[in-house]
Amino acid sequence: MKPAPFEYYAPATVEEALPLLGEYGYEAKILAGGQSLIPMMNFRLAQPSVLIDINNLSELFYIRPGDSGVCIGAMTRHCQVERDTLVSERAALLYETMPKVATQQVRNRGTIGGSLAHADPAAELGAVSIAMDSRFRIRNQKGERWVNADDFFVGMYTTLLEPEELLVEIMFPSLPPRSGWSLVEVARRPHDFALVGVVAVVALDKNDRCTHVRLVLLSVGDRPMVAHQAMKTLLGQTPSSGVIRVAAETAAKEDIDPGSDIHASAEFRRHLADVLTRRSLEQAFERAKAN
Ligand code: FAD
Repeated sequence: MKPAPFEYYAPATVEEALPLLGEYGYEAKILAGGQSLIPMMNFRLAQPSVLIDINNLSELFYIRPGDSGVCIGAMTRHCQVERDTLVSERAALLYETMPKVATQQVRNRGTIGGSLAHADPAAELGAVSIAMDSRFRIRNQKGERWVNADDFFVGMYTTLLEPEELLVEIMFPSLPPRSGWSLVEVARRPHDFALVGVVAVVALDKNDRCTHVRLVLLSVGDRPMVAHQAMKTLLGQTPSSGVIRVAAETAAKEDIDPGSDIHASAEFRRHLADVLTRRSLEQAFERAKAN
């Protein structure tokens, strides 16, 4: 398959890219790692008349310490995040997630900004960014705005990015003191998109009571799904197998409404959500207790 014809621009700086986005708006698509966009263009599911290649924007390739965590430029490739010492020290959940994202070949080209902007509800990074309370820096010709990861994803492959906007940076804050984290998922084959995945971040006080919890499920809705009801059952509780069981059942029954497709029935996805939420919380609380 070959893509439909398009005009190609390769700006050298963000300042050059933004006017192009402003001029072409909905007609244009940004090309980052191309791992999702190029197959869609080849199948003609996407037919942009203008392609704005941002691979020359060297100012968007970086990993730096942030106020308390780590700031990552949107064009940083998955493989760089996967091997970065600062990420391993300051954002252990993100570090552990990277090898689970696609195959090494895809990770060599795919970018963190591209994955988040693509907003596949089965992608790990969207759920992890919400669980870590990350913030996204977005630019257009007029200036910039910061958006919470929780607000960024608005539907299936849809974010609140406007066509003239560029995602430029993602800030992953450090987790609270005495916190623990976990990402567990089930896929048919290693490196396939997960049938269901669960990301948990928890924190405990000195009496081992849960003071902070983020529970986000992937592949069970049109975007990463925050398990608000399940989170309520955990706050203020001392974690036990009973407390965790109630939270997992609540997540699977009340917080999600998964659909059936060729990969899995809704019933099987709900079952996985229950089992994986339990495993994820168990691991997260174990880690928090050890801190
Ligand atoms: P591109 O394909 O270049 O762009 C994707 C979309 O984002 C396009 O609409 C583009 O215009 C837009 N975009 C890109 N950058 C920006 C920006 N800075 N600002 C605004 N818009 C932007 N992902 C997972 O999470 N888990 C998996 O298990 C997984 N498995 C995969 C398996 C295969 C075989 C393949 C091909 C991909 C898989 N992926 C998986 C997706 C992979 O992570 C991609 O790299 C990612 O989705 C897109 O990143 P990219 O840099 O290639 O973006």
